[in-house]
Amino acid sequence: MTTTGPIPPEVDGVPDAPTGRLTSPHPAPSTSVGGGDVPDPLTVGRRLRHVRQESGRTLGDVAAEIGMSASALSLIENGKREPRLSVLNALAQALGTQLSELLTTAPPSRRAALEIRLERAQRGEGYDALGLPRVKIGPRLPTEALEALVGLHEAMAASSAERAATPEHARRANLGLRERMRAADNYFGEIEDEAAQLLGAINYTGGPVGRVSVDRMAAHLGFSLVHTGDLPGSTRTVTDLQHKRIYLPQPEAGQHDSRSLALQALGHLVLGHDVPVDYAEFLTQRVEINYFAASVLMPQEGAVQLLRQAMDAKDIAIEDLRDAFAVSYETAAHRFTNLATRHLGIPVHFMRIGQDGVIYKAYENDGVIFPSDATGAIEGQRVCRAWTARRVFEQPDLSQAFCAYTDTRSGTYWCTAAIDRTPAGVFSVNVGVRYQDVKWMRGRETTHRATSRCPDPTCCNLPPADLADRWSGNAWPSARAHSHLLAAMPPGVFPGVDDTEVYRFLDRHAPA
Ligand SMILES: [Zn+2]
Repeated sequence: MTTTGPIPPEVDGVPDAPTGRLTSPHPAPSTSVGGGDVPDPLTVGRRLRHVRQESGRTLGDVAAEIGMSASALSLIENGKREPRLSVLNALAQALGTQLSELLTTAPPSRRAALEIRLERAQRGEGYDALGLPRVKIGPRLPTEALEALVGLHEAMAASSAERAATPEHARRANLGLRERMRAADNYFGEIEDEAAQLLGAINYTGGPVGRVSVDRMAAHLGFSLVHTGDLPGSTRTVTDLQHKRIYLPQPEAGQHDSRSLALQALGHLVLGHDVPVDYAEFLTQRVEINYFAASVLMPQEGAVQLLRQAMDAKDIAIEDLRDAFAVSYETAAHRFTNLATRHLGIPVHFMRIGQDGVIYKAYENDGVIFPSDATGAIEGQRVCRAWTARRVFEQPDLSQAFCAYTDTRSGTYWCTAAIDRTPAGVFSVNVGVRYQDVKWMRGRETTHRATSRCPDPTCCNLPPADLADRWSGNAWPSARAHSHLLAAMPPGVFPGVDDTEVYRFLDRHAPA
């Protein structure tokens, strides 16, 4: 990995966006998972210059020996041109060294490491936007000045990351993600392909993907999975890139399926993620690893086969998908949204809401209108009381999914909802389709039906007149704040993660 920063831990407490494959705004580094490290041209160039200067040779001298112009060699040393392997070979010979010496990923000296960091910082888009001149990085730049410039650049990057992590920014990032996922029908073929490849590598033939299979996939990528009881409280998993270990909580310690956590951690590697530069990229990566984990646990081929058979029988049910792949109802419901439109031609919507009706996650491409604020954000908004997602909480028997029709301002929908009890509270998980698509779904014979007139305030926002007459002016409730939605995102590359805690943890567990 060329990732030099900290370890990608997984954070709790950040609202999950719905899943989807998104093109990262930042090119992934040239890493090969499980393979060797490939240094970038800048590192190769600095190392080359270091070796040449050690040998006391001039640029022109060495260039002449291998039949190249001094300016061309200078471009290579400055990392502005990527040398062919044959050129590097000739250079190694001329300098009396090994090719491997030139291809080592580590910078040759502390000074060189600083030079590389400054070069990278000056090449960043953020620096261009400032319209400032680039400092020439050469032998005449004092190490002290170099040190100060690198320090300033990096402090500035950290502070802009902190600024970016405001609730306002988080909401906009969520909105942007949802729009891109909707445009793709929540289906991302590249991630499906990566998942299929990894499954192929361990000779997966069908059925649920168990713990042993996940272990094999990790091993195939050169990683081992280590369960531990003392993960830092601010993380879900921690990956030690140096020793190629993924630390996971003890299976009984949390509500999370540890297969899913392990696959999400592997997802960062398989999808070539780099340390996120801002909150939007952090969110994108979260969405991608969630998608990746789901597409491994419920492989496309088997899941689509099951869904097509169910469609033929007009008997599609989320529960069957859940049971066939031994996953949670929510994972199955979410995965259904990936495949339903692409493979079955059925537009869908998905929601996860709290007992108070507040949206935690939602996705739609079937025209259902979620409540939203002025910026278009839906997280933290309360859905109509008439919606199935909320009515499910009032059902006396929750042993099976609750199905109901709802007439809304954008048409009639049929929805199926289930209750999910977690240590963080009680949620409802919902999948819905348009009235014309209900013919494919199990539970369509339900007689439950409701009308939603929201956003008309008389639908469910204003209290009934008799209650209002009795209590208006005589009630003073104390509001419970939704801190996860309204509080500023904690600063840091991985929002909310305590780096000290993570490094101490790694120190404790690293092999001697
Ligand atoms: Zn309503």
